[in-house]
Amino acid sequence: MNRMPTLFVSHGAPTFAMEPGLAGPQLQALGRSLPRPRAVLVVSPHWMSRGVRVGLSEQPATIHDFGGFPQPLYEIQYPAAGHAELAQQTLQLLHDAGWPVVGDEARGLDHGAWVPLLYLYPDADVPVFQVSLPAGLDEAGAFRFGQALAPLREQGVLIVGSGSLTHNLYEVRAGQSEGEAYATEFAAWVRQVVGAGDSTRLQATMAQAPHARRAHPTTEHLLPLMVAAGAAGVGVTGSLIDGGITYGVLAMDAFLFAPAASA
Ligand code: ZN
Repeated sequence: MNRMPTLFVSHGAPTFAMEPGLAGPQLQALGRSLPRPRAVLVVSPHWMSRGVRVGLSEQPATIHDFGGFPQPLYEIQYPAAGHAELAQQTLQLLHDAGWPVVGDEARGLDHGAWVPLLYLYPDADVPVFQVSLPAGLDEAGAFRFGQALAPLREQGVLIVGSGSLTHNLYEVRAGQSEGEAYATEFAAWVRQVVGAGDSTRLQATMAQAPHARRAHPTTEHLLPLMVAAGAAGVGVTGSLIDGGITYGVLAMDAFLFAPAASA
């Protein structure tokens, strides 16, 4: 089987589930055009843990892990099956790479997983399992974590890092359509670095990108980008899916990391 590409998606706010904006239709088109995966592996900041946990559930529940949003959001179900066999394989792979890892039979899918999947695979007909984001990683650590997952691409697994290209929730403003300059500038820097396949600079985003601390007061929504890039490999370029900016400050870009086709 050919190697699957990897993907970073911005899930922004949970309301993305009902407000497709620029990103939704493009993710939908992407889901139709990608080679059909055997399973999707999602790393989301909404499941962080000491060490690594791998979701082994055969039928993961839809977790509505947010508060204060409109009722219809809490009624959305994403009934994709899990994939215990590939999840077990992931567990073994991480173990062999030296990561402290355990399985989790009970864990469902958090909104960092199911919100973008509503667009990518709206029929929930591709199995999904999550791998937690280990706490305490910096960008280089998250990149290495992605590298440990890379062999799964040859097993037909689509590795998805789900975060948000900018994520300052203190500055979210409902109804604002125009992006704040700092968010646009930060996103432009990352777009350039990802487009150039500059893995070294990418791993120095917080130190080098303009307005990095304002764009990411905490880094958990940035790290899934490093996971997706690491899983694709050093020097692999990411092609941009321009998601625009929602709520004035949440850049919704996605990147598809597709290594050159080879065996
Ligand atoms: Zn989030």
